[in-house]
Amino acid sequence: MDECNYAKNDKMLSNGLVSTSSAQETLTRVTEGKSISRREAYELIQSTDDDLILSCARKIRDTNNHNLKIVTYSRKIFVDITNLCRDTCSYCTYKKDPYSEAARMMKPSEVISLAELGKRYGCTEALIVTGERPEQKYGEARDWLKSLGYTSTAEYVGAIGEELMRKTGLLPHTNAGSLTKKEMSLLKESNASLGMMLESSSPRLTDVGMPHHAAPSKNPKVRLRTLEEAGQLKIPFTTGLLLGIGETAEEIIDSLFLIKEINEKYGHIQEVILQNFMPKTGTAMEKSSSIKMDLFLRIVALSRIILRDINIQVPPNLNPHCYGSLLDAGINDWGGISPVTIDHVNPEFPWPPLEGIRSATLQKGFALRARLPVYPEFIFKSDNGFISDTVRGYMEQLSDSGGLVREEVVN
Ligand code: SF4
Repeated sequence: MDECNYAKNDKMLSNGLVSTSSAQETLTRVTEGKSISRREAYELIQSTDDDLILSCARKIRDTNNHNLKIVTYSRKIFVDITNLCRDTCSYCTYKKDPYSEAARMMKPSEVISLAELGKRYGCTEALIVTGERPEQKYGEARDWLKSLGYTSTAEYVGAIGEELMRKTGLLPHTNAGSLTKKEMSLLKESNASLGMMLESSSPRLTDVGMPHHAAPSKNPKVRLRTLEEAGQLKIPFTTGLLLGIGETAEEIIDSLFLIKEINEKYGHIQEVILQNFMPKTGTAMEKSSSIKMDLFLRIVALSRIILRDINIQVPPNLNPHCYGSLLDAGINDWGGISPVTIDHVNPEFPWPPLEGIRSATLQKGFALRARLPVYPEFIFKSDNGFISDTVRGYMEQLSDSGGLVREEVVN
């Protein structure tokens, strides 16, 4: 049963309510295929017409041809190559100092062993995650990379991605933060897709006392440039928002519109992850509240309404009682779920059993299918410059005629 907490969040609802008739008018036009304007979205995020908004989001999701009656997830291993990071975000527990017992700097042999284990469990994605350019801050990171023959984290990640794909057939998807165009170009050869959360386009969050003040890579200008350059390189790209870290309702809408506008130029944004901030013990934001579920669901629905056919994903481990509500808000993907590794970014939140997700998905009328770390629409794009020849060779061994994972690979 869906036991979502529907307590009302009044903090973000700042500028008065839009009338139901005006919301209805906007949503009718949007359901008929018209784009929503930024002004209309500002109004809707402050409205209380959740039934209308969620219903519109569902209709748009259900008429997107490529995901009709299918909701996806990716069966993955989480390879936390290194949790050293030059930046500091006020909510993060992933980052560790080099002297910490939990500091991680994986050797190639450890990565390959993990990928082999993942293969035995039917995984098809190797999610490769690093902190932001640790070699710029820590001698330990430079020494580790040097001992392996590299001068940067990006170089190592490119090489180990190629090796694990060659040895195990798993497809890498790397999130190493805000990479340069040259680095992304290198990684495209060995990655099915790349990822980097925009988190928020609000420069306010980098001010003194705000969560990204000590994280230069979280400057929205830097992140938006990375999104643009990934588009120029034709890289299927995953991005997303971290919701509830001090941004306003209008800033959430602005972030979504910026993603939409960049995607309209390059057509490379394959999915947008909507991640609800959860306060964590030991961080500067441990006493901050997480976003209330009614507002979160409205944002999920508005993301669908604004982004239309871009895949919308919400991590199920952060929302264990809300699968049905999230499906009702228009998502079509549950993201990476691992039978082998924990969520190293949110270790406090274990992956839920796949069967619970499958059953909630079925109850809403959708089949749950495993996808690759690149979505079918990119596999079949007439302009196939989105996937390197090397990756395509391995991908074809895993995918069926619809571009999803062949059933016998995961079962
Ligand atoms: S959220 Fe990412 S960039 Fe920020 S401190 Fe953690 S690992 Fe570094």
